[in-house]
Formats: sequence, C-alpha cells, structure tokens
Amino acid sequence: MKTIVCKFGGTSLASSGQMKKIRAILDDNTDRKFVVVSAPGKRSADDEKITDLLYASLKDDNAWNKVVTRFFSLERDLNLNHTASDYLIVNKKEILSSKDFAASRGEYCSALVFSSFIGWNFVDSYDFVRINDNGMIDDETYSLINEVIKNDQRYVIPGFYGKGNDNKVKTFSRGGSDITGAIVAKGVNADLYENWSDVSGVMAANPRIVDNPKIIDELSYDELELLASCGAEVFHHDAVAPVKDKIVINIKNTNSPSDKGTFIVNANKHKSVNPLAVSVKDKTVYVLGNNTVLEQYALKSDDNEKEVVNRLYKKYFG
Ligand code: ASP
Repeated sequence: MKTIVCKFGGTSLASSGQMKKIRAILDDNTDRKFVVVSAPGKRSADDEKITDLLYASLKDDNAWNKVVTRFFSLERDLNLNHTASDYLIVNKKEILSSKDFAASRGEYCSALVFSSFIGWNFVDSYDFVRINDNGMIDDETYSLINEVIKNDQRYVIPGFYGKGNDNKVKTFSRGGSDITGAIVAKGVNADLYENWSDVSGVMAANPRIVDNPKIIDELSYDELELLASCGAEVFHHDAVAPVKDKIVINIKNTNSPSDKGTFIVNANKHKSVNPLAVSVKDKTVYVLGNNTVLEQYALKSDDNEKEVVNRLYKKYFG
C-alpha cells in the first residue's frame, strides 16, 4: 500500500458540494491517507475568500459575521454539529486579538468541518509545524510530526499555519497551505504529493488572460520553482524544497479528477520542453523555457497587459 498526501485548495472546500467531491476522490483511492486543507475559498468569481474576510474582520464586524455564517451554513448543509461556528462565536475576542491567529482560523475551522464530515482524525498543525521568525520551516517539525501522527490512521490537517518561536500561532505567506502539504508529505515519507485545485494542472499561461492555455504534462522541480518565482500562481514557491527530488508532485483538478494533471518529477527522469510558459510578475512579462527565461518584457504604463501576454503566448505557442 502506498501513502498519498493530498492538499486541497480553497475552491475545493468552498461549499458542501465541493466537500462531497473531495470525499469521492478520497473514496476512489484508499492510498490517500492525509488531507491538508485550505480555508474555504470563493464559490463564484464575485464571492469572498474566508482568509480575506478574516483579515478584514480585525476592523470590520460585518466581515466577521460573514465568516461565522459561512461555517454555520457549511455545517448545516452537511448535517453536522455546529462545532466550528460555535468555536468562532465563543472565542471571537481571542481570535481577533492577533492577525496571524485570526487568519489561521479559516484553515482550522475548514479542517474541523471536513474531518467531522468524513470521519477522519483532526490534527492541529500547531502541534507539529514550527515556523522560524523569518517565516521558514524549522527542522524540529519533522521529528514532531512522527509523534503526533500514527501511520495506520487517516488525518485531516489544517494548512497555512504552525507555532512560532514565541509559542503563538504563526502563518506562512499567502497560499501557504501548499507548504503544509509538502511538510506532511516529507514527514510521513509519502510516495506522492497530490495538490488539488480548480485547474487541471500547471498552465502555460494564466487562463484569465489567455483563452484555453496549454496544460503542461510534466515539469522538473527546478522548472516549477522558476514558474512559481516568475508569477505562475499554481503552487507556492516555498512548497517545493521539502519534497524536491524525493516525492513526485501531481497537480490535479477537484472538478475533473480523471484529468492527469501536471507531474513534477526528477530532472533526470524528465524530458524538458521549450517554451514552457508565459507569466507575469511585478509588471514584467516572462517567457520561460527549460530552466531559463527566454524573453522578458517590462510593461510600460500605456501597455495593455492582456494584449502583451497574448502576443507573446501566440509568438511562442503558435
Ligand atoms: N487560506 C490561505 C490563503 O488564502 C492559505 C492557503 O489557502 O493556502 O492565502
């Protein structure tokens, strides 16, 4: 039997219907034993992410009420006890006393709800993820994970946060649940790290800018790091290091689970293709190739970003 660690992003936890899709994905392969979850994300383009609402809650009671209502509705729709929404109501003052603690409660409540929905163990990342003052993973994390996790059990684990040097809850940077997934994959010596979102893999361009961009079948870890550092939004840059060269990553789509997705593999097992992708970061458009930047263009104030990206995408991808 193999061990697969799955991380599900915010859109996969956004509603009871999405949570049911995750349950079907887990039922489909019993090697999937560890699930790392993000906070519920947007249900539609004009919806709000729970994490954004939690940051806003520090100053805005209306945002806080939306958070409580979202968790209350999720629990109601899944016929669960109101454990997460009650927790928020009872602990409001403490939760809103610190920015990181407030932001982390999205993942904490998401894992509470989802673990009770599927009947797996809940383990709090605070009990094993150690985050340095510079926001990086402390090595102690990997000895602690084996103390809190038993190999013959199945777990739901909140992403995005851990314990800082001052013993308070500390978050990674935004999108940091990918890092928690990579930590768990390394800690339990997984055979595969599946990273589930709402796209069928790493795309050769942002689908909000280019219509139907190509999906990249396979990348090396270095290529993924290059893409992540040049603005490709699909995977957190700091999530590569814990699994690099050891654990294959498969980036998959919760809404279309039979799509193969993108595999991230060892460079020596991988045939590189050129060009790889067009991305945008800090007002610069990059055309990325096999471990290199093939072309870069600094956007001027009168440039239309969408036009420039589409022009370069067409030039390189036909
Ligand atoms: N919920 C956090 C964010 O929106 C972390 C994550 O989803 O990975 O950044």
